[in-house]
Parts: sequence; structure tokens; C-alpha cells
Amino acid sequence: MITDGHNHTKHFSADAGQSIYELISEAQSKGFTRIGITEHYEIDYPDDGLNWMFDLEEYNKAFEQWRAIAGDKFELLKGIEFGYQTHVAEEIDKVAASIPLDVVLMSVHLFRGQDFYVERGCYKLPAKDLHSEYINTMAEMCEKCNNFDVVAHYDYINRYADNKNDFITYEETPKELDRLFEVMIAKEKALEINTKSIQKHKDGGFTRHLPDAELIRRYLEMGGKLITLGSDSHFPGTFAVSFNEAVEYLRSFGIKETVYYKDHKPHFEAL
Ligand SMILES: [Zn+2]
Ligand SMILES: [Zn+2]
Repeated sequence: MITDGHNHTKHFSADAGQSIYELISEAQSKGFTRIGITEHYEIDYPDDGLNWMFDLEEYNKAFEQWRAIAGDKFELLKGIEFGYQTHVAEEIDKVAASIPLDVVLMSVHLFRGQDFYVERGCYKLPAKDLHSEYINTMAEMCEKCNNFDVVAHYDYINRYADNKNDFITYEETPKELDRLFEVMIAKEKALEINTKSIQKHKDGGFTRHLPDAELIRRYLEMGGKLITLGSDSHFPGTFAVSFNEAVEYLRSFGIKETVYYKDHKPHFEAL
């Protein structure tokens, strides 16, 4: 069984609505034996009344309890999902190095400092300009930060688009994606296929829902070998959504294994 390496709980993630108990029991009922917990940690997030940071010591303590509850046959990987902004790059690296973690995800949840889930102005830009700037921010994130393992949901900005054709493709932004993949591959950072994005595109009536084929082919052609799968679950019933479809899709490119991280070291799993 492969690992779902990207999940949130209400105990530490401001926007999550599931308890660790609900998450573990859902994962077990779906036959999983290992999952990643990757709580949100957003430094200097625009004020929306929510608390996007948490006490790292408390997280350590909670994890000890959680592991005891999960038992020997079910592995919990301790992770954090950091939200990137240019001016917090150094601080992210510092925080990431300050506690023992299995996996660190890096994400871009903002566009020009604004949460595009709420502030929708960026979607008035031509799609190509929006995607170009978004991908360049992820490339910059990989250039500036070092203490992380995975680039999460490269397609996050598409989830909330008004235009249902809005989709990051290799054809549209080849230079930007080459820049991103080059630094990821050189620094051995993994590419996450986010199955919540797939599900959201399906549910939202987008014209397509699977990651762009040319984009995947280019990542492989450039020498990319580290692919993770994550459902980014926040609520009961959403763990490992669209996993089977994503696995089939990855196999269709000849991809034979995915990866999960333990103590920041990649472990490969046959697809
Ligand atoms: Zn995220
Ligand atoms: Zn997430």
C-alpha cells in the first residue's frame, strides 16, 4: 500500500475539521498502514482571524500520544506544511531545522501576499501571466529554502479559478516549469501529485482534472525521480480521494514507484 503523505487535523491546522482519531480510523478502513500528518505553519500570513502557526513543543508532545494510539502496525509520519513568502524564507528554514520531523512540505498559498481563495483579483490576470508568476514563486522558494523535502500542490492556484479551462500546462509555461524542475531535481526535492486538486477539478466541472501529461513527461525527461502522493485531507471522508485514479495515471507514464519521507530520507514504494 502506498502512503498518503499530506493530511491535516483540527488539532493544529486552522482550516481542518477532522480529529487525528477520525483520520487514523478512516485511513485504516481504507487499508492504509502509513500516513503523513502535515499541519499548516504560515509565518506572517495575512490576518484572517485564524491562527496559522502553532507551538512546536506541543506538536512534539501530541505526536508522541498519537503514535501510541496508532500502535505498531500503523505509522504516522510527522510533518509540517510551510506556506512560502519571499520575506520569510530564512525563518522557514530555521523553524524546519528546529524540531525533528519526517517530512517538510513547501507550498505557495498566496499570490502577491493575498489569499486567492478569498481575494479573487489575481484571476482577472491573463492565465498565462498568473501561472508564470505563480510557478516562478515556487522556483524561487526552492532556490531560497533548503530544509524541506516536497513541493506540494504545484497546481493549487487552479483550484479556485473562475475559468474552468484554467490549468497549468507545460505548453503554456515551459521556461518557468523548467526553472522549477531544474532546482527541484538538483536539490533532490520531490514533486507532489495532489489528489485533492484532482478531486476539486472533477467536482468543479473543470475541462480536465489530471495533471498535464506534458508537464509530467518533462519532469521525468529532466531526470525527476521523486514523486509523492497526497490527498491534502482536512475533513472526514476526504482521505486518499482520487488515489486510485492518480496511481493509474502515474503508471501510464511508466512510473514504477512513488516516495515517502521518514527523517527527511526518501523511501520508495512500488506503484
Ligand atoms: Zn496547501
Ligand atoms: Zn495541505
